[in-house]
Amino acid sequence: MKRFTKITSSIGPNSEGREVLQQMIEAGVNVCRLNFSHDVGDAQGKKIDIIREYSAKTGRPVAVLVDLQGPKHRIGNFETEDRFPIVPGQKFVFDSDPTPGNSNRVQLPDMDVIKSLKPGDRVLLNDGKIEMKVEKVNSDSIEATVVRGTEIWSRRGFNLPDTEVATSVLTAKDRADLEYALTKNPDYVAISFVQKPEDVIETREFITARTSHPVKIIAKIERPQAVEKIESIIDVADGIMIARGDLAVEVSFEKVPAISRRIIRLCRERNKPVIMATQMLGSMVNSDFPTRAEISDIATAAYLHVDSTMTSEETTISANPPFVVETMAKVLQNADQDSIENGQDWSDAEDLPENDWALSVTVMAELNNAAAIVVFSESTVPATLIACRRPDVPVFAIAREDVVANQLCLSRGVHSKCDAEMFASKDAIAAAKWFGLESGILVIVDGEKISLRKLG
Ligand code: PGA
Ligand code: MN
Repeated sequence: MKRFTKITSSIGPNSEGREVLQQMIEAGVNVCRLNFSHDVGDAQGKKIDIIREYSAKTGRPVAVLVDLQGPKHRIGNFETEDRFPIVPGQKFVFDSDPTPGNSNRVQLPDMDVIKSLKPGDRVLLNDGKIEMKVEKVNSDSIEATVVRGTEIWSRRGFNLPDTEVATSVLTAKDRADLEYALTKNPDYVAISFVQKPEDVIETREFITARTSHPVKIIAKIERPQAVEKIESIIDVADGIMIARGDLAVEVSFEKVPAISRRIIRLCRERNKPVIMATQMLGSMVNSDFPTRAEISDIATAAYLHVDSTMTSEETTISANPPFVVETMAKVLQNADQDSIENGQDWSDAEDLPENDWALSVTVMAELNNAAAIVVFSESTVPATLIACRRPDVPVFAIAREDVVANQLCLSRGVHSKCDAEMFASKDAIAAAKWFGLESGILVIVDGEKISLRKLG
């Protein structure tokens, strides 16, 4: 019970086998992220089946998070696989012509996006290594000037940081992927390149028209337009992912830490879980020892009281994904313990509601030196509210439905269990024992009723 910060891990080529997936969950994965930018359809469905079978066999809930690619733009192919030289000051054209590109032009397969561009807007390619400025927008091409960069080649990413794109947040591919994913009852769906609250609402409408399964929606914050409307996005989403990869391309990278900190604080104030993502153990793709900077980044996320950190390529293509998870778990556990023992809460949530029900539960646990808070959580709401007050003790959440126990896997400090009988009996002592607690005071939350009991 020493680790409070959860681990979300991307599952890919080197982590999708039954055995390795099981080892990863045992090493500490709480949420499995299936990235539909790579595999789609049954290739992803098979992973979901393995995760569900594991949960059914062990009684241990694991959340499944389906991550949709979203409107990620890429340029087309070049005449060869070589890199083509470009120089600052030169003109460059993006057009609809599929003829392979060269140093002066290339196709932009998704031409719809040019309707949103205006002269003066920046275009960033290859993770921001190339910058161009839009000079002229024609009906089927854009003329730009190279500002920065020396070479360009096939299939580079194309980011438009200054442009609110008018197309839907769900592309045709996302709709097809989501349609499939919903047949597998995922716990979370993450949407990429969100710009505004309406994007979340549109996705929710798409989902509720197709399933009654209570899927939760995570908005990935990776566009400056989303940062501007962050409060209203948090309000309509069920959780947030700080997608630092694209975010660092689209806003100046030095702004990412301050933006992250603000998002974490706002999520806590608004009772929504938040995931810190991208490159947390990136060096472990090729190494079995993390960099000192990565150790510090993970620990900082824990001190800032995020709900979950995340692994990306380091658990999809590295040689030993379970070892990467173990590494992350160790770093989190040490930071979490220090945070509790030495009162280190760097998240400085300011707007926490006074006389708030969940805050009183937390204060009651602290005043009574409780060993745990036991919550009978009919929905995710009571346990999530308490978790967002960041109590110093673990929250044991007993749910009646699998989906509730699974979704609570994302919430900081919450240990969930689906057990209809235990839920009906309201036996908090049995629940605490099931989670391995042998003695101590329990704060028990059952609807509006809050009580204390001594165990052992
Ligand atoms: P991605 O999202 O890996 O789907 O791009 C995460 C990020 O951009 O940080
Ligand atoms: Mn991204």
